[in-house]
Amino acid sequence: MAKTNVKKTAKAGKSNKHVYFFGAGKADGNRTMKDLLGGKGAGLAEMTNAGLPVPPGFTISTAVCNIYYKEHRKIPAAIDREIADQLKKLEKAAGATLGSTENPLLVSVRSGAKFSMPGMMDTILNLGLNDDAVEGLKRRTGNGRFAFDSYRRFIQMFGSVVLEIPKDAFEHEFEGEKSARGARLDTDLDEQALRNVVQRFKKVVKDRTKRDFPQDPHQQLTMARDAVFRSWMNARAIEYRRIYDIPDHIGTAVNVQMMVFGNTGDRSGTGVGFTRNPATGAKEFYGEFLINAQGEDVVAGIRTPQPIRELEQVMPKAYKQLREITTRLEKNYKDVQDFEFTIQDERLFMLQTRSGKRTGYAAVVIATDLVAEKLVTPKEAILLVDPESLNQLLAPGFDPDEWKKIPVTTRGLPASPGAASGEVVFSADRAVEWVNQGKQVILVRRETVPDDIHGMFVAQGILTATGGMTSHAAVVGRQMGKPSIVGAGGLAIDESARQFRVDGKTVKEGDFVSFDGLSGEVKLGKVASKPSEILQVVNGTLAAKKSDIYQRFEKLLSWADQYRRLGVRANADLQDQAELAYAFGARGIGLCRTEHMFFGEGRIPIVQRMILADNEADRRKALNELLPLQRDDFYGVFKGMPGQPVTIRTIDPPLHEFLPKREDLMVDVARLEALGKKGAELDEKRRLLARVEQLHEFNPMLGHRGVRLGITYPEITEMQTRAIIEAACRLHKEGTKVIPEIMIPLVGHVKELRDQKAVVDRVATEVMKEQGVKVKYHVGTMIEVPRGSITADQIATEAQFFSFGTNDLTQLAYGFSRDDVGKFLRIYQEKKILDRDPFASIDTEGVGALVEMGVRLGRKTRPDLKLGICGEHGGDPASIHFFHTVGLDYVSASPYRIPVARLAAAQAALSVKVGD
Ligand code: PEP
Ligand code: MG
Repeated sequence: MAKTNVKKTAKAGKSNKHVYFFGAGKADGNRTMKDLLGGKGAGLAEMTNAGLPVPPGFTISTAVCNIYYKEHRKIPAAIDREIADQLKKLEKAAGATLGSTENPLLVSVRSGAKFSMPGMMDTILNLGLNDDAVEGLKRRTGNGRFAFDSYRRFIQMFGSVVLEIPKDAFEHEFEGEKSARGARLDTDLDEQALRNVVQRFKKVVKDRTKRDFPQDPHQQLTMARDAVFRSWMNARAIEYRRIYDIPDHIGTAVNVQMMVFGNTGDRSGTGVGFTRNPATGAKEFYGEFLINAQGEDVVAGIRTPQPIRELEQVMPKAYKQLREITTRLEKNYKDVQDFEFTIQDERLFMLQTRSGKRTGYAAVVIATDLVAEKLVTPKEAILLVDPESLNQLLAPGFDPDEWKKIPVTTRGLPASPGAASGEVVFSADRAVEWVNQGKQVILVRRETVPDDIHGMFVAQGILTATGGMTSHAAVVGRQMGKPSIVGAGGLAIDESARQFRVDGKTVKEGDFVSFDGLSGEVKLGKVASKPSEILQVVNGTLAAKKSDIYQRFEKLLSWADQYRRLGVRANADLQDQAELAYAFGARGIGLCRTEHMFFGEGRIPIVQRMILADNEADRRKALNELLPLQRDDFYGVFKGMPGQPVTIRTIDPPLHEFLPKREDLMVDVARLEALGKKGAELDEKRRLLARVEQLHEFNPMLGHRGVRLGITYPEITEMQTRAIIEAACRLHKEGTKVIPEIMIPLVGHVKELRDQKAVVDRVATEVMKEQGVKVKYHVGTMIEVPRGSITADQIATEAQFFSFGTNDLTQLAYGFSRDDVGKFLRIYQEKKILDRDPFASIDTEGVGALVEMGVRLGRKTRPDLKLGICGEHGGDPASIHFFHTVGLDYVSASPYRIPVARLAAAQAALSVKVGD
């Protein structure tokens, strides 16, 4: 994705056009131009072209944002001229002039990146007003109160956003005027009072900036534009992009648009909505509006708005038109639309349309519904669901019996479904602090603000007292898949005392609260949760036909299966994991880490005896004890994945991982010696300590591990091969098809593999002869050492398959220790040295190049070489896209990520840019 964007942006940078007009039924842009115009700009252009009522305006492209930063926060004169030309065009279309005292043009200046980043960047409304123009606005509308209300809003917004004056300074003056007049509500202030407010605000500006409030509307426009560009790099926008993997270099566009007013009186209003319910996916017109208000009032969650259905009663004509337009938009875009509108004196204007963000649950419901309604094909439906969001459907819910035991304390709006239970905190910082201590928290706020993003991210759930279904908390909660309830009016929150009162009770920081984000019910106390409906079906505790969401989930994934080329296997070590993965749709095991079984009950002492043995005979004795246990393990894993290939890896980690810690043993020995104890216990501890010291390594990850163990102790490989083939023979005799694939880890030289393959083949032949059975097995290797990739053509002479171990490959390509990277990764990301954690999402340029090389060289030697990947990247959508592109045969991921991998593999095959 990054590459494509760089290219496009660079191209746009060279092109002469930077500003795109829309208005009077025609736009320079269209909906395909999101890279350049941002989501908002592309939507406005598209709606204009479709003949919808959109106030005219122009979009300054995202390329200009990059130029702004490249030119040290300056816009070249040529672009300034282009903006001035488009402004003239806008004035003509609007029939009004910026700064005119007769008929002043007022504009909004809004950010709009390719990906929506709700509330993270800045917006300025009512721009163009000054001491003269406000009088012009009064004359034109015959409404002095409205004119001065607009002016004071403008100074307030411009003052805080552009001039960076703290909001409190304005609030303080506003409240001062209200109390001087004995006014309770903002709307109680008349024109004269608002004139006073304007004077007070202008004084705030003068005191704080030592300059007068800028009276030249052209200067206002330039300053506002630059402030929006600046807001691309504010801390919360950066944090948001980090969480959602949005690259920094794509920049934001700036939309300058003629203002229409929802605050001219009771025949005006403004609202936002969705063509379907974004929390549940239900097909219902959904949203809310406020009479006599401007857009920011709805989104900010300051006043609790009315449900959109009530608009039908208040303004039936505008409502009908809104329904018609949004239904058309949904059909046209073939997806749920999230829209903004303003009604000025009963006249409807559309201000935005875009694909609506939705929960994972809603995404599956909507995609399957749209196919049923024949609005989209299954192929198109696959592209409507973000693979990552499927995880939300696997999240636990409450046990209904436990949930019923506690009375409902209060209710709020069900903004984002899911069960949440945790200790109450009242600030985002506290949420992060407590989560770092291992606690689970519920973030309770009067309303959330964009600065809360880090706390929202770590909380189990978000609970607010004010705001509607499209308030910040609701939008962000849904997007994160976080259970959220907003507008729980019963909560009287005292954030400074860190407590709230509800239903006559006081709840303090640290008390437990639980809520259900689907029903909106809030309860005091802790409630145990239970597996999601989908997991219940997968586990066999609920019949598939009793779960509507399971059926939809499976339908969507079965469509995905028709389009994907990549196979999807699981990383699973035990029978139950293999069964779960199979039920989730994995067909094959890509990695069974045999050493995990060594930690099974009662096994560690045997493993330790094997390690402690100082001669082959003793080691073989211990291995003989392990043999039947491993055979049973493998038998189970084969059974859990019947008829599918099962890749079993021979022992990999350094042996000291199975022994007690050196420091602990030293303490034990010293203690026993101090107590004057002699005898077997002390001798045993001393022996262990001596062996641990012998095995001690300075760099265990680069030490005696992987294939090196099998080479030095071939009897371990012998035992593991015997266990695998004996289990396979047994199943074969029972009539179950098995396809064992024996995989040697950490191979960097073909001779290493040759050595181990000889052992495997010898023992396998021996066992099959003993058993009188022939099973087909394969021997292959992991490619996880860079030398393995570089010499893949040689290694492929021995290997029948490769599986890329991208965890170690990343570790060894970068030289970043997998276990220590956490110490500096965050700083690398902050300094923009790395965009993403390379252990989570494949570094395509470096590690990816090694994978590509391994694929190319391996296939050169052996065209039918089977190729897979079993590192953590196998469950990451962006990485899956890459693995598809380089031509792997399959990805292998943990059982819970199988659905994500199936869908991501289909999207990769349909060539969709991840994150689009
Ligand atoms: C890998 O290195 O990618 C891998 C799958 O092996 P492990 O994580 O067990 O080292
Ligand atoms: Mg590895």
